[in-house]
Amino acid sequence: MQMDALLPALQRFVNPWELDVVFYLAGWLVTRVGIGFWDNLVIGLVKAAQVKPLPTRTDPGKPVRYMAMDAISWWYLGINSFLEWTFVLNLLHFLWHSPAVPKQLTALNPLNTFAGLYVMFAVMDFFYAPSHRFLHWTPVYPYVHKHHHRQVFPAQGYLDAGNEHPVDQIVGLSCTWLGVYAAVHLTGAHALTIFIFFNLHDALAMLNHSPYDVEFSILGFTYSVKAHEMHHRMFTTNYAQYFMFWDHVMGTFTDYHYRGFQPTQAPKPLGHKVVNQPTTKATGSLRTATAKQP
Ligand SMILES: [Zn+2]
Ligand SMILES: [Zn+2]
Repeated sequence: MQMDALLPALQRFVNPWELDVVFYLAGWLVTRVGIGFWDNLVIGLVKAAQVKPLPTRTDPGKPVRYMAMDAISWWYLGINSFLEWTFVLNLLHFLWHSPAVPKQLTALNPLNTFAGLYVMFAVMDFFYAPSHRFLHWTPVYPYVHKHHHRQVFPAQGYLDAGNEHPVDQIVGLSCTWLGVYAAVHLTGAHALTIFIFFNLHDALAMLNHSPYDVEFSILGFTYSVKAHEMHHRMFTTNYAQYFMFWDHVMGTFTDYHYRGFQPTQAPKPLGHKVVNQPTTKATGSLRTATAKQP
């Protein structure tokens, strides 16, 4: 591509709505405040529902060590916030201008909502799981993804989820984009569905880096904070985020294990769910989460 064509293309990508600098920065700020508010609301709801902490976080015999934020982490978070903003601007531009994306509320139907949402998560993880595995490949790992793994026991939600090398961020956003694009063309995904998808994806990615033991399984969608904690503890395992099926396919799935905790079921390729089974009699929710070593 010629230089005189490259520059306008880059300008269109960075600022597709041709906002002036004040509106551009105001939009960035609104997005940051929105994400901060949403993440705090989700954590508040998880606390209100009295979700137990992860077993590793309540073991009095083995306190967990957390890494403090360093300067490079703040730099990465800052750069990534602008990468996210660029993504949001392009996504909104696509939604607004694409005739393939219905926007009228009367156009809502089961295909462009429930099926669309499912396709977005499934396609995103189809690309994310092997890409994530690639980022752990020894010759590549130290240069990009290693930074995200400085926290062996993620606990700070967005601060730990978004604390990654900008290339990591671009890989993640690209997988997300492929999920949206596939859902639009396979199910005619509605704009509202895409909005809900991003809210759910943000909340679940943030919770995956929280200390709360959230897990559920719906039609092969197997979300488990324990599974991602295992990935941070043993990073040759559990590369997927939402469909652990891909780890079963790649032979990289590992069940949650920690002293005293045994899964009640053998691993299954689909719909696998790990259930805590304390080895001593539980006397309360916290007690359940701190079962003694057998
Ligand atoms: Zn992580
Ligand atoms: Zn990783």
